[in-house]
Amino acid sequence: MTQDLASLAKERGIRYFMISYTDLFGAQRAKLVPAAAIADMQKDGAGFAGFATWLDMTPAHPDLFALPDAEAVIQLPWKREVAWVPADCVMEEKPVPQAPRVVLKTLVAEAAKEGLHVKTGVEAEFFLIDADGGTISDGKDNATKPCYDQQALMRRYDIIAEICDYMLELGWQPYQNDHEDANGQFEMNWAFDDSLITADRHSFFKFMVRSVAEKHGLRATFMPKPFPGLTGSGCHAHISVWDRAGTTNAFYASNDEMGLSRQGYHFLGGIMKHAEALAAITNPTVNSYKRINAPRTVSGATWSPNTVTWTGNNRTHMVRVPGKGRFELRLPDGAANPYLLQAVIIAAGLDGVRSQADPGPRLDIDMYQLGHTVTDAPKLPLNLLDALRAFDRDEDLKGMMGTDFSAAYLKMKQAEWQSYTSHFTQWERDTTLDV
Ligand code: ADP
Ligand code: MG
Ligand code: MG
Ligand code: MG
Ligand code: MG
Repeated sequence: MTQDLASLAKERGIRYFMISYTDLFGAQRAKLVPAAAIADMQKDGAGFAGFATWLDMTPAHPDLFALPDAEAVIQLPWKREVAWVPADCVMEEKPVPQAPRVVLKTLVAEAAKEGLHVKTGVEAEFFLIDADGGTISDGKDNATKPCYDQQALMRRYDIIAEICDYMLELGWQPYQNDHEDANGQFEMNWAFDDSLITADRHSFFKFMVRSVAEKHGLRATFMPKPFPGLTGSGCHAHISVWDRAGTTNAFYASNDEMGLSRQGYHFLGGIMKHAEALAAITNPTVNSYKRINAPRTVSGATWSPNTVTWTGNNRTHMVRVPGKGRFELRLPDGAANPYLLQAVIIAAGLDGVRSQADPGPRLDIDMYQLGHTVTDAPKLPLNLLDALRAFDRDEDLKGMMGTDFSAAYLKMKQAEWQSYTSHFTQWERDTTLDV
């Protein structure tokens, strides 16, 4: 039976529901609906003007309705009178095909047709910075190799423990928190789950981390490369595919040297085949390309990939197989839209399964030291425009993501690229004034 939000409000003392959807650029858009009005909204959805958000609509479009998915409701642990409900966009009674949560649900259903059930975990790294966004908030956090810095982690205990306590309360099974490889950077890990659940939690995690940081007078950013020279914020995704019931890992094969089944290799083959194109979604901003393909950081390594290669337990490639029955995609960054990230993994992987794609041989070298010796590995796109062009050329991936979505996404992102290139930089003056 569907969760009745009005009754939930009475049981839990919820005064407001935040009906929230995520647009193409990953922005979370919400209406705050009093509990007294939630019954109608649960049926009909909350109304929005789609053009006012990044969804490729015009001001003349009819109302967009955000239909709350009541099963996914989360009461805010830091403000219990409010509950967040992720919503699916509909217009004139039909799902909006380019809306990210709709795109993901469509792909989850596609995978289910093949008897596949994708489960993922994400590692959403972030920085804690000053409220004005300019500098790392902890002036003492300046070690050359700051990863796992015990003292710096404890100086942020109040924020990190508060967020972890909330995840414990929400039943996400968090299991570790650490200071990451850049000054001011942190990572918090919770258990993997169905891709839609992970996408909703990933969205909520970003909202929660920002909210708790603001409460403490700071600011949290998931920007891929906020500080030149320091390691950027990735959002690695760990992926396994299970049977219909979700109880047997279809990627697992005990007799394989990597512990991967044929299906696992084909899924991985799809990721490899579509990598240059899917970067347009996993690395969706101009700034994303300053994290991948980057020169060595102060800490000694960028920890992000440059080429389309895969390996065993080695963190210098795009894909790592850290253990049996799963693999880690190290390409995505903090700007990735939580829903589109999961959607494009399923789209590429499912295409790989259907076409029995071959991931090619694994490469075990240190890619940072010896990458130049590998001449036949495709390079990742060098900038957002290259990635968008690769996506546009990849008819199979565009088809898997849905033609309406792909057209809308390309149009919005190409406009963003235009906006960027029309911006004049100091670098141009410095290098061109005296030419
Ligand atoms: P690392 O930093 O070594 O890459 P983390 O421990 O930070 O790894 O994150 C691992 C993520 O992978 C977690 O979200 C975890 O739940 C998830 N994970 C573990 N096993 C699987 C699996 N079989 N399928 C999908 N995700 C998994
Ligand atoms: Mg109005
Ligand atoms: Mg990690
Ligand atoms: Mg990390
Ligand atoms: Mg990782």
